[in-house]
Amino acid sequence: MSALRSLLLAAADSPRLQRFVQKYGFRLGAARFVAGQTLDDAVPVLRRLNDGGLRTNTTLLGEGVRDEAETHEVVAAYREVLDRIQAEGLRTNVALKLTHLGLTIDEQLARANVAALVEHAARSGNFVRIDMEESRHVDATLRIYRALREAGHENVGTVLQSYLFRSEDDLAALLPLSPNLRIVKGAYLEPPELAYPQKRDVDASYVRLLEASLAGDGFTAIATHDESLIEHAIAFAREHGISNERFQFQMLYGVRPRLQLELVRRGFGVLVATPYGPEWYRYLMRRLAERPANLIFLLRNLVRG
Ligand SMILES: Cc1cc2nc3c(=O)[nH]c(=O)nc-3n(C[C@H](O)[C@H](O)[C@H](O)COP(=O)(O)OP(=O)(O)OC[C@H]3O[C@@H](n4cnc5c(N)ncnc54)[C@H](O)[C@@H]3O)c2cc1C
Repeated sequence: MSALRSLLLAAADSPRLQRFVQKYGFRLGAARFVAGQTLDDAVPVLRRLNDGGLRTNTTLLGEGVRDEAETHEVVAAYREVLDRIQAEGLRTNVALKLTHLGLTIDEQLARANVAALVEHAARSGNFVRIDMEESRHVDATLRIYRALREAGHENVGTVLQSYLFRSEDDLAALLPLSPNLRIVKGAYLEPPELAYPQKRDVDASYVRLLEASLAGDGFTAIATHDESLIEHAIAFAREHGISNERFQFQMLYGVRPRLQLELVRRGFGVLVATPYGPEWYRYLMRRLAERPANLIFLLRNLVRG
């Protein structure tokens, strides 16, 4: 793992740097990765992406919450997002983090909050994806996903990270549920006891997860900007007669926009993850860690003023 990646991921937890970047970052270039500070800012961005043939999801950025009351505000905000998506006729679903709904306060609280949102989404035929966070949250996240599915909710999915050793076993345990899974490489700083430190091992694990998920009878969201993995998925699906309805590519807003449109042109479903909100700092730091060249982009804007 590169030292710069570790440094940037550590910076994601620095309150002092956060204050500085929050003050100047949007002007410097955070807007390239974040659809705005408010839902009103995000709606035209989502519409423009939809008009280009791309599906979208949106996330109200934020991870830590202090108390139960604050989690209820987050739930209310997401209800508003779901209602607005319906009113605007957007092809947009919601991706959220359980820590934003109170996972670090109480697992049952997070579970009740996400269940309320999954039910709310179902009323307008919409869908909720539960993002995967640091490894210490994986067990609880998978427990909550399983509980929702066992309670009969079909409009919910979650995420597996190929950098974690455990993910292949987690996938095998989930496959009987015909799960809706997004496969990612993983965006957090994890110790070598839990996660592959080498990129080539993370990529090889991604291939194994991708193939096992596609061979199952759920839905696979292939969330990567890695063209060789994308082409591998296409070839594997073709070879095994897996229809385009059973999978989708997912990329981040602001990353490889031409590739997104090219895949649409080739007849594949593509979803662009398009977050918004005032708490964009930690999200931006993870995007910089994935590609340090993005830091140069930001610094160049700083010099330009
Ligand atoms: C839709 C979506 C949802 C995600 N959800 C989660 C989640 O729930 N949990 C989680 O841990 N992680 C999540 N991630 C992040 C993921 O784990 C990776 O950190 C991220 O996708 C970068 O890895 P990669 O697969 O694109 O491959 P890499 O091997 O990192 O990159 C492949 C190529 O893509 C380009 N690229 C990659 N990232 C960027 C970037 N930020 N800016 C510019 N170019 C870039 C580079 O040119 C690089 O050569 C998500 C990613 C996506 C796309």
